Parts: sequence; C-alpha cells; structure tokens
Amino acid sequence: GSSSYGNAKKSLGSTRRGLNSKFIPPIPNREEEQDSVTMNAVTKSVFGGGKPSGSNNSEEPTDERLKGIEPKMIELVMNEIMDYGPQMTWDDVAGLEFAKKTIKEIVVWPMLRPDIFTGLRGPPKGLLLFGPPGTGKTLIGKCIASQSKSTFFSISASSLTSKWVGEGEKMVRALFTVARVGEGEKMVRALFAVARVHQPAVVFIDEIDSLLSQRSDGEHEASRKIKTEFLVQLDGAATLSEDRILVIGATNRPQEIDEAARRRFVKRLYIPLPESAARKQIVLNLLSQQKYHLSDQELDFICQKTDGYSGADMANLCREAALGPIRSMDFGEIESISADQVRPITFRILKMLYHKKASVSNKDLDLYISGTIHMVVLV
Ligand code: ADP
Repeated sequence: GSSSYGNAKKSLGSTRRGLNSKFIPPIPNREEEQDSVTMNAVTKSVFGGGKPSGSNNSEEPTDERLKGIEPKMIELVMNEIMDYGPQMTWDDVAGLEFAKKTIKEIVVWPMLRPDIFTGLRGPPKGLLLFGPPGTGKTLIGKCIASQSKSTFFSISASSLTSKWVGEGEKMVRALFTVARVGEGEKMVRALFAVARVHQPAVVFIDEIDSLLSQRSDGEHEASRKIKTEFLVQLDGAATLSEDRILVIGATNRPQEIDEAARRRFVKRLYIPLPESAARKQIVLNLLSQQKYHLSDQELDFICQKTDGYSGADMANLCREAALGPIRSMDFGEIESISADQVRPITFRILKMLYHKKASVSNKDLDLYISGTIHMVVLV
C-alpha cells in the first residue's frame, strides 16, 4: 500500500533526522562531503561509542556482522529505515480477526518463545500480506514488531528500485539517491546486516512486487542486482535458524510476484477491505480524539453507506469531517475562537462526505480475488 495516514512513525528522539531536515547525501562525490557524514548517537552505539568524536575515518564496526558494510549505508538504514515509532497493540488494527489470530499463533508466539518453537514448530521467516491498498498491512507489520518485542525496519521497495518515484508517494530522499546511483543492493545488504545486529527484528517491505516481479529480471541491470541480493538475504535469513528475523512483504499486486520469489514467502495472508463493523471501529478510534456529536444509529448509517471503502478511505473521511467545523468559520473567527468553542463533528458533516468514490474499484477488487486464487492463501 502507499498510504501512511496517521503514522507517527517518524516521530523520534533527537537522534533521528526527519525527512525534511538537512539531507546528507549517502553517496558523497567529493572528499569533503565524505567527512560531512557525521555519526549520530545511534550509529555510535553500533560502532562502539568510546572513540573521540571527529575521528570518523578511523572508526571500525565493532560488530562482526557489520564487517564490509559501508558506514554511510549503516547510518542510512538506522536513520531512514529503522522505525522508532510508538508501540502498537492488536486493538489498533480494526477487523481482520482471522489474520490477527493466525499471525499471533504462527508468528508472534514463536518469536517471543524461540525456546519452545524450535524445529517443527519453528517460526516462518517470510510472510506475505496481500490485498487492496490502505487496508492495514503496514499497521499489521508494526503490530507484529511491537507484540514480538522486535526492532521494526520499514522500507518501500519502490524507493530502492525506481528511478521515477512520483510526488506524494512514500519517498525517502536518501533512498531515492541510493536507487539513482544504483546502490540499492548495497542498501539491502546493509539493511539485513543491521537487522541481524538488532534482532529479533521484523523487516517490512512495502510494494514488494516492484522488487520481485518477473519484469525486474530482464529490465535493468540495477534492479536485477537488487532482486538477486534480496533473494540471497532472504535465503540467508531462512537458513540461519538462530537469526530471529522475520521478513514481511506487502503488495497490492500479488499476481506480479514471480514463482521463485513467491515460494520464499511460506505464509501468505489476504488482507481484505474492512467490513462495516471494522469501519465503525476505525471511525470511533479516530473520532475519539475530537469533539463529536453522533448517535449510534447515525454512525451505523455512515458505516453502511461506506461499503467498499478501505481503512485509509475511512481515515480520510474522518480527516475531512474534522475540518468541517473549521471550514464554516471565517478568518476572524478562527483567529479569536478558543479551542473548546470549536463546534463538534456532526452527522450532517459526515453525510456530505461519504459520496466520494472508494479508492479501490470493483474491477481492482476482482483482480485481488482472482489474485487470491492464483496465490493460494497459505497459513
Ligand atoms: P496498507 O499498508 O494496507 O496500504 P496501512 O496499514 O498503511 O495500509 O493503512 C493506512 C491507514 O489507513 C492507517 O494508518 C489507518 O489510519 C487506516 N487503516 C487501514 N486499515 C486499517 C485497519 N484495519 N484498522 C485501523 N486503521 C486502518
């Protein structure tokens, strides 16, 4: 999926650079730029923090597993891919009861108790979540990491492979540069090395189809290299059973993943659009942060009328509705009104909004459903 509404994942402590803050090029092309790649506190913890600052070029990774990985790549992984967002619980994910139950049993428990879940009971190393966009695949990934007390790494595969990442997509500039200069496969290697150091780890790869599609084979040398490296790492994670790394792939286009890659994701789960009850839970969760005036019947009415909406569509609807009371004011009023005088979100406001088309069309949905047959859901 490509939506990231309500993600607080970029909210971090002082050690993390935001997406909009000063960009440090990962691939410096001049000597002095090389020096400007400074180490932050987190990176120092990996490298061993005892050295005086300013002696970057003499710093050597102290962890064996980071040997041969470029420091700037490690820093990029830690700054842009490692997710320091808030902890999540299963209640944050509305509906999807089947997926949640299955995931708890086959993934989370084994990750929490590797001593019990050995051999035949061993946890899967790969999990594929597929289905329409905006249905909670990313939320599930975060939740798995939280609940299994694992470090969460999250990256969109398109940022590694695509030269032309559109505006408005989840794009990380630094990674974009990596893709542009054809160093995506180094990034993949660094990602798994850092994950190994920080295990137990969950590595979430959104839009995994762009990494593993049949097309990426012949097309560009660069994307072929990234794909090969990814498969090598995936197989490494699967065979080194003492490593506790779960790779989760998410995709809206399961049919584009080739057979060889598909086989590596032993467990596959379809993540469908939310039912009416789940839509209700999403709305209630979001509205609970605001003042609102809505009877249970009115809420049910809205939830019936939004059949076909994804979770992300529901979140958008709530966001729009929350602006309703503000839009009815003129500028003078906005300037002077006190926060508790802002009118509540009402049924009337919500009723004006649900006529918008759902982001997933019926035609798309057919594709997922035939995709489901094609994929064979394995749990
Ligand atoms: P995906 O990864 O499937 O494209 P996300 O997990 O990024 O979708 O969901 C996007 C946003 O939509 C979430 O941040 C959340 O606000 C809302 N959302 C989608 N599905 C759910 C769900 N099942 N429960 C709660 N919120 C959801």
